[in-house]
Amino acid sequence: MTDFYRMTLAELSAMLQAGELSSTDLTEHYLSRISQHDAGLNSFITVVEDQAMAQAAEADRALQNGDAGPLTGIPIAHKDIFCSRGIRTSCGSKMLDGFISPYDATVVSNFKQAGVITLGKTNMDEFAMGSSNETSFYGPVRNPWNTDAVPGGSSGGSAAAVASRLAPAATGTDTGGSIRQPAALCGITGLKPTYGLVSRYGMIAFASSLDQGGPMAQTAEDCAMMLNVMAGFDHRDSTSIEIELPDYSAGIDQSISGLRIGLPREYFDEGLDPGVKAVIQAALEQYRDLGAELVEIDLPNSGLSVPVYYVVAPAECSANLSRFDGVRYGYRCENPSDLNDLYTRSRGEGFGAEVKRRIMVGTYALSAGYYDAYYLKAQQCRHLISDDFREAFKNVDVIMGPASPETAFNLGEKAEDPVSMYLSDIYTIAVNLAGLPGMSIPAGFVDGKPVGLQIIGNYFEESRLLNVAHKYQQQTDWHRQIPEDYT
Ligand code: GLN
Repeated sequence: MTDFYRMTLAELSAMLQAGELSSTDLTEHYLSRISQHDAGLNSFITVVEDQAMAQAAEADRALQNGDAGPLTGIPIAHKDIFCSRGIRTSCGSKMLDGFISPYDATVVSNFKQAGVITLGKTNMDEFAMGSSNETSFYGPVRNPWNTDAVPGGSSGGSAAAVASRLAPAATGTDTGGSIRQPAALCGITGLKPTYGLVSRYGMIAFASSLDQGGPMAQTAEDCAMMLNVMAGFDHRDSTSIEIELPDYSAGIDQSISGLRIGLPREYFDEGLDPGVKAVIQAALEQYRDLGAELVEIDLPNSGLSVPVYYVVAPAECSANLSRFDGVRYGYRCENPSDLNDLYTRSRGEGFGAEVKRRIMVGTYALSAGYYDAYYLKAQQCRHLISDDFREAFKNVDVIMGPASPETAFNLGEKAEDPVSMYLSDIYTIAVNLAGLPGMSIPAGFVDGKPVGLQIIGNYFEESRLLNVAHKYQQQTDWHRQIPEDYT
């Protein structure tokens, strides 16, 4: 059989449209790769063979009848944070282990309408809280480049599945870096869109003012194809933005000569691993060769982003997760003695340690005596962080730097030290606080582990980001590399 797994969405799409490949064969190909390889990676929580094959048969009919779109017949995986009708939607938590969603998230239904097949649901940190995928109730995911190492998080299952080509692409969500950081650590391309571009309806809420869904794929070209399906106004999400959408695939090949790239001094400081720094610098040189101009900039309030995030995100999660009380839905403890016992034991047994830590921090930060000192202050600092970017974008078109301060660390290495884990997102978090779009693209390796280049854009400039990423990917083949054990 042809090595379909080596192909991008764009290439697979061309073959499907030309009738050179059927969705049934392609879907079977990926299902068999999952059964062959996933035991060692644990990137999927749920695989839905029968449903996938039924969807593929339907897609083949659409392809034959000529009513197919560009992604019709392509199988992908969804992060298990997106509600999917009739399929367990666990959010990586014991709390929702038995939850079969009665409805589809907008992202999931958009893909279904586009004729895209769901292979299954990918593993993730519990309720998307983490940077290593070790907080999942279903066990950690391993990095396909080095199975001693973590894949990053919280969309670690999606990143590992795409990196090992158990799925040609997947969905992810990013609250503080959870698309970009695992994309970087697994050597794939991930895009976190502008806040409000992709509907959050049916995407289980962690921190509502920060959460945003986006594509995780092999290339920028593939991310563009996915974003065309994912983006759009949704009246069921009150923060969804109604704007005219471009065709994200259309301008992807434009020249980037004259592009002004801002390099924040703060992103190249002591905290950055020297090997990662060298890879990023080489990528920047390549951009210079493509005609871009490199400009040093300052984001003076960068140092506030981790502390601000770890007030705002826990505060919002403490409110969002109050719905999991053992009554309305989710896990319920055995034989509760009274209502209080029902609440406390259901939550105590259903949530893992990191989720509890965040709920406690958040509840404290929102409590009457501390609201002004913590939550209000954090919101004020959040403005300063956004203003830094606003200032910077007066002078540059995009901002570049590392997506993560280091390559994939080993399992267990940071598990007992939450603060060092929180620092994994030092370069990604500010983008969420400001609501901006950001990408990570593969830029090289250090000791056999991938490095991600982060590209940050101004509001709703996803087309520009994709164009800037695509130009680099035309010149390089980092995004084409597949870890040996999966070829
Ligand atoms: N690692 C960050 C956290 O633990 C970000 C997670 C995310 O983006 N969902 O909160």
